[in-house]
Amino acid sequence: MSDDAPDWTCSGCGRAVEETTPEKRTPCLHCGSLARTAHVTVTETVSVTTYLKTRAKHRDGGTKVLRDITEGDDYHRKTGKWNLMRRVIDRANNWYEEIFRDRDSGAIVHHTAEPLTEHKKPKPD
Ligand SMILES: [Zn+2]
Repeated sequence: MSDDAPDWTCSGCGRAVEETTPEKRTPCLHCGSLARTAHVTVTETVSVTTYLKTRAKHRDGGTKVLRDITEGDDYHRKTGKWNLMRRVIDRANNWYEEIFRDRDSGAIVHHTAEPLTEHKKPKPD
């Protein structure tokens, strides 16, 4: 019996039945029904990769954003890979931090941490 052979049940009463061929089919011992239902379990391995990016802005009562945190998946054009990134812009503490990790290995591929005032210009990499 192979893995994808269906399990048969009686369509009338739902009891498991031995199914031979439709021609040799005998009425169900329990309800007399000739109808059969085949149950095939199909296991599919679906590889779904979801990319997510969240951005959280922290305000202290007022309208001024004190902390801006972006984290999630980031596509790196240079390597053609998706990285996990976390960027924190902390205006209250004048701090800028950026960490990029390899999605597969978790290794840090890029890390920047510096006072926000020194991060005015994006650096060419
Ligand atoms: Zn039956």
